[in-house]
Amino acid sequence: MADYDLVVLGAGPGGYVAAIRAAQLGLKTAVVERDRLGGICGNWGCIPSKAILSDAALYVEVKSAARRGIIADGLRVDYPRVIGRSREVADQQAKGVEFLFKKNKVVYHHGTGRIAEGGLVVTNDRGAPEHLRAKNLLVATGSRERTLPGLEVDGKIVLTSREALESRELPASVVIIGGGAIGVEFAYVYASFGAKVTVVEMAASLLPGMDVDLGRELERSFKKQGMDILTGHRYARLERRGDGAVVTVNDGEGREKVLQAARVLVAVGRVPLTEGSGLEEVGVQTEKGFVVVDAGMRTSVEGVYAIGDLVGPLLLAHTASEQGILAVETMAGKRRGGRGLDPTRVPVCIYCHPEVAAVGLSEADARAAGREVQVGKFPFRALGKAMASAHTDGFVKLVADARYGEILGVHMIGVGVTDLIAEAGLGRTLEATTEELAETVHAHPTLAEALKEAALAARGEALNI
Ligand SMILES: Cc1cc2nc3c(=O)[nH]c(=O)nc-3n(C[C@H](O)[C@H](O)[C@H](O)COP(=O)(O)OP(=O)(O)OC[C@H]3O[C@@H](n4cnc5c(N)ncnc54)[C@H](O)[C@@H]3O)c2cc1C
Repeated sequence: MADYDLVVLGAGPGGYVAAIRAAQLGLKTAVVERDRLGGICGNWGCIPSKAILSDAALYVEVKSAARRGIIADGLRVDYPRVIGRSREVADQQAKGVEFLFKKNKVVYHHGTGRIAEGGLVVTNDRGAPEHLRAKNLLVATGSRERTLPGLEVDGKIVLTSREALESRELPASVVIIGGGAIGVEFAYVYASFGAKVTVVEMAASLLPGMDVDLGRELERSFKKQGMDILTGHRYARLERRGDGAVVTVNDGEGREKVLQAARVLVAVGRVPLTEGSGLEEVGVQTEKGFVVVDAGMRTSVEGVYAIGDLVGPLLLAHTASEQGILAVETMAGKRRGGRGLDPTRVPVCIYCHPEVAAVGLSEADARAAGREVQVGKFPFRALGKAMASAHTDGFVKLVADARYGEILGVHMIGVGVTDLIAEAGLGRTLEATTEELAETVHAHPTLAEALKEAALAARGEALNI
């Protein structure tokens, strides 16, 4: 007889949320985690990085406040304390998950799990391996950092986000390889605290994969903040010299540039963690490293489900959590059929300053899909609340279907947009139109008025520009 209805492997935002939802649905549930509860997100990703980003923004705000009549003399940064606070926040997150497991009667096994006949074998250094028998397995083992040849991580000169989140030393100069979400967030942190920052991105603009206007605007803003941005450049090689590195990049047409820095941060993406958990041995089907699942998150092996970074395509904490809920509701018989999680309803947020947020199709993707589109754009410099708070960089860009006005995508850059995107997300869920958004009364003065104005602009009816 099975010990559990469900055993979850991995306690990141995918696994731990799925376990709680399973317990709510009456499934006898256990979770196996080899590291700390909360996964990459709580310990080495979303949460600790946002603590540091919020400190960087605070420092920049206070430093630049003199023009607003607020003068702070003797301002300085205690970087070890910044990192220390971020670790404390991560600790609180892990404790929070432990509390939630107890509250929901989810059994927690600390150790490394491996899929075995009828369940999972857990090993740790506290005794003999334990065999947990389960009716269903949910694999949520996440992902690990990708590196490039010659960029092997040594934790001193060449770092990934993992080492950067722990290192209490503020480097004088950093070359960041990769201008995606993680690269630009660290670029903002280091530049704000005074380091000389160069970002190398092989695509034509920062934030590849997002609406191209966002990356261009971010590049403009980062350059204004003093960073060097090398878009259209590829990493070629690295030479470690004493306590720094010389990085050669090339522009794809044979022209090389040589960059020197105390640290090199590798932020070239993440790869799914399929090895070590027995997934491959039981024959779970994968494609380009990602586990293949159906709309209910079932893998090719009966009784084995998979979610989160292991599955993709959006490697985000909230995607992992939503997929986790979908998986356990499917196994509990609550959901039958259905289309699964629609990636065009998943918001993507980046927490540098200006912030970046988007949901739905980019203008280019909408056109490539054959849609006739209307585009409305509203700049924050035309908005009272943005002027009042002295944050006028950026815009809201709305892409709508030209015939019926359905909102296909919203792309924002500027202050507070990672919160504003929730309204656009709801709009996508409700299949809202530009007319409905334009008719929604928005309080004045608020940053959210930019969304209404962008909807009006798409209809050729903008009022404040
Ligand atoms: C620097 C950084 C910043 C980020 N910021 C954001 C952000 O702001 N917003 C956002 O949405 N996403 C962000 N992400 C991405 C986010 O962290 C991931 O998408 C999310 O953590 C994926 O969740 P998951 O549950 O799939 O896996 P993970 O969080 O990776 O958790 C997997 C867990 O499985 C455990 N595990 C693996 N193998 C085994 C095994 N064999 N036995 C036992 N345990 C095992 C691991 O120890 C880990 O705890 C960020 C990532 C990084 C690196």
